[in-house]
Amino acid sequence: MSRSPHYIKLLNSRRWRALRMAAIKRTKGLCEQCSAEGRISAATEVHHIRPVESVKDPIVMEQLAFDPANLKALCHRCHQEAHLLMHKGSNEERRRRTKEDVERFHRQMFGEDPE
Ligand SMILES: [Zn+2]
Ligand SMILES: [Zn+2]
Repeated sequence: MSRSPHYIKLLNSRRWRALRMAAIKRTKGLCEQCSAEGRISAATEVHHIRPVESVKDPIVMEQLAFDPANLKALCHRCHQEAHLLMHKGSNEERRRRTKEDVERFHRQMFGEDPE
């Protein structure tokens, strides 16, 4: 999946950073997926349930990116799982590539490795 410049710009905005913080605070800093499965994990990442890049229109992209109902506070592991699940029929190679995608994405977004 290639990152559109518009998307990168959205995620580098103050508005996104504030919303991201709010999404994590909303769950009291806990991973929503882990909580649903009876585990306690710290949410460190915020996931878009409907991928922002599933649309081409910058206006719609922005709506998806900043819609609190489209956000999920997740731990790193659940975030990776969420992305793996979006790639239907994934084989080994795809899993590996998706993991690399997520890691590259994190370096772009936060200037650091996710671990
Ligand atoms: Zn989790
Ligand atoms: Zn995600």
